[in-house]
Amino acid sequence: MFDVIIAGCGPTGAMLAAELRLHDVRVLVLEKDIEPASFVRIVGLHIRSLELMAMRGLLDRVLPHGRRRPAGGFFAAIPKPAPEGLDSEYAYLLGIPQPVIVRLLEEHAIERGAQVRRGRTVTGLEQDDEGVTVELSDGQRLRSRYLVGCDGARSTVRKLLGVGFPGEPSRNDTLMGELKADMPGEEIAARVAEIGQIHRPFWLRPFGEGVYSVVVPAAEGGDRAEPPTLEDFRQRLRAVAGTDFGVHSPRWLSRFGDATRLAERYRVGRVLLAGDAAHIHPPLGGQGLNLGVQDAFNLGWKLAAQIRGRAPETLLDTYHAERHPVAEDVLDNTRAQMELTSAGPGPQALRRLLTELMDFDEVNRHLIEKITAIGVRYDLGEGPDLLGRRLRDIQVGQGRLYGLLHRGRGLLLDRTGRLTAGGWSDRVDHLADPTAELDVPCVLLRPDGHVAWIGDDQQDLDDHLSRWFGRPAG
Ligand SMILES: Cc1cc2nc3c(=O)[nH]c(=O)nc-3n(C[C@H](O)[C@H](O)[C@H](O)COP(=O)(O)OP(=O)(O)OC[C@H]3O[C@@H](n4cnc5c(N)ncnc54)[C@H](O)[C@@H]3O)c2cc1C
Repeated sequence: MFDVIIAGCGPTGAMLAAELRLHDVRVLVLEKDIEPASFVRIVGLHIRSLELMAMRGLLDRVLPHGRRRPAGGFFAAIPKPAPEGLDSEYAYLLGIPQPVIVRLLEEHAIERGAQVRRGRTVTGLEQDDEGVTVELSDGQRLRSRYLVGCDGARSTVRKLLGVGFPGEPSRNDTLMGELKADMPGEEIAARVAEIGQIHRPFWLRPFGEGVYSVVVPAAEGGDRAEPPTLEDFRQRLRAVAGTDFGVHSPRWLSRFGDATRLAERYRVGRVLLAGDAAHIHPPLGGQGLNLGVQDAFNLGWKLAAQIRGRAPETLLDTYHAERHPVAEDVLDNTRAQMELTSAGPGPQALRRLLTELMDFDEVNRHLIEKITAIGVRYDLGEGPDLLGRRLRDIQVGQGRLYGLLHRGRGLLLDRTGRLTAGGWSDRVDHLADPTAELDVPCVLLRPDGHVAWIGDDQQDLDDHLSRWFGRPAG
């Protein structure tokens, strides 16, 4: 009997496994693929995901594998630099191949004690009052107290639960691949700059040694079930750019759509959904992986508390209550970006207008905080603006705040020196630091770094400790 079985070892499943292991939860990850995907999709880790990595001491491990890029220019690919003074110590984007981030997160989960079994496909589930029976394609049946479907866009777990996945089907497909190109680099750059004004998404980005990342709109009515061929790429490049750039020797070729869908419920009894299993949207702004990893960060400590019997009754349901609206907002911003990258005169006029508006610092800042997820504020009730937001990595004592969150515990950051975590000190650390860079007397941080309480009254604090961390010990 495991505490939690996770279906799928993509970025979401691996992150969740590691988070659960911080609290000694017995975790088994079942992954259908024997090898991690070789398909090299370069994704961008946005500011909030970099912060999560820093909060768990993972950032130094991830940084050497990626390339830092400026944080701006992601909303609908409108090339505006980020405004000065973004509210983070990690105000950049890290471009990193998805297989690398998956490998690093999987290694991290295993080091923390998670079991990962590859070549195992989840095909069935049944739940009862005590747990979930998970059936695999080879007929094996496993038992756990909870199951989390992190099994991607076509999630078997979501389908088995019968959870609705309303939204819009894919309207436009895009071809994406890595190929060599014979045309001289300057000619390619000039042609791409010209065509990229008219057709989006469209690019050939050099990777060195004559290899390019190629993205071009697919032909209408193409067969989605069939993987694209080199000839498909050549035809589409000729149709869109008037030349096929002499592309040849593909490393890999793929196709993706722009379907936009959101699961109606993130929890059905003892089964939960996270990552692409719960939401899909076009890759504009590079948000999908980030959103999934952030789901895992929100869910991990809550599910662990539930398993250890310490969770307040409604804690696990706050996962849906907090993360569903965040995904709704991401879906909406990708819908808007799709319109803004369409070729028609109306969308192009809107794009020009938004480009002008982004010269206003507040507009630009708002869009960047949205895309990078540092603007997320959970609705935790009435209170100051900081309530429900994440706290940046401020200076505390001799070190940094995020260094104090590596163990995934709560933190009482107390400038008054009068308060105490009392009967919750087995799960909440207390740091009395009158010099902390805070303009409020005291904050209670959840293990995911979001502010759960602000104030200076011990009784009020105790009520909030109960609300988030359950009954006091003893
Ligand atoms: C072209 C493109 C570019 C993108 N760029 C970005 C970007 O820049 N930034 C960003 O944040 N996101 C980006 N994304 C989105 C990102 O790739 C996904 O959101 C991310 O992979 C979701 O992670 P996940 O772990 O939820 O799901 P997945 O990565 O799909 O992982 C699911 C895992 O579950 C396994 N699985 C499936 N079914 C079963 C089963 N029945 N039993 C066991 N295992 C199963 C799968 O094999 C897989 O390993 C991009 C997507 C595309 C298509």
